[in-house]
Amino acid sequence: MIVSKISERVYMIDTLALGRTGSVAAYVLKGSKVALVDCGYATSGGTVLEGLRELGIGPSEVDYIIPTHVHLDHAGSAGDLIKQMPRATVIAQERGIPHLIDPTRLIQSATSVFGEETINAYGRPVGIDKERIVAVGEELHLELGGLSLTALHSPGHAPHQISIFVEEEKVLIAADAVGIVYPAVPIIMPTTPPPSLNPSELGRTTERLAQLDARTLLAPHFGVRTDVVEVLEATRKKTDEWVAKVRGLKSAGSTLDEVAAALKKGVALEAGIREQDFPIYADVSITASAMGILHYLEKNP
Ligand SMILES: [Zn+2]
Repeated sequence: MIVSKISERVYMIDTLALGRTGSVAAYVLKGSKVALVDCGYATSGGTVLEGLRELGIGPSEVDYIIPTHVHLDHAGSAGDLIKQMPRATVIAQERGIPHLIDPTRLIQSATSVFGEETINAYGRPVGIDKERIVAVGEELHLELGGLSLTALHSPGHAPHQISIFVEEEKVLIAADAVGIVYPAVPIIMPTTPPPSLNPSELGRTTERLAQLDARTLLAPHFGVRTDVVEVLEATRKKTDEWVAKVRGLKSAGSTLDEVAAALKKGVALEAGIREQDFPIYADVSITASAMGILHYLEKNP
């Protein structure tokens, strides 16, 4: 079973990223219309379709695909899926839309961060016809019939990110505006990859989301939390701590590898797990976060 029920109208699909459970989630909102929020890597499209099938939803019954932002683990399979979903519209933040239409630069940027071999495993997104995309500026409301969604611009992790608040269920799908809460690494870890991290915008986003009165937080990495405000607050605080720590290491002349090792050591200590027991996706995420903070500090010394 790759589908978990959150409520009668909200479901999670484990996209089994790179064949692993518990790292990248997609969410399904089921009113009289159906919305898919995030869709995993390009290589996870088949798993997403399988999850929808488990829910009795065929590809032609999906009305909206909502990638919260254009990073490959959130929007990677959108281009493939939309071709199989004749009535679906893509909803995305306006700053991300050029990358959804033509992902060439996005793929180049991700390859420079993760390397060719990892990108082969993630898969490369294909472009989406611009007629099938509706832009979100600061806010967009959407009625699914029995469910009302608000897409909220949520910059910080990336400038092209939205979060989704489901009014009737008081559910917040926060995208990477919340840190990583992998079941296998039971602490909150910032996710701060390059190239467009902005820690102060992330802080403002978490404060704004904390005011929504959400009862349930659905994290992309990974799963359900009911301590909504605490997770948002910890994300802001820990991101600031990591930025301060990396600033210190950078000014002492540490290399990327040394910065990543120091962050990983801190996470291992706090989570009470041995570094050699880290899941590979946590390792990759910490290295990308170290790169993102170093890149931010280059631009903002
Ligand atoms: Zn992301």
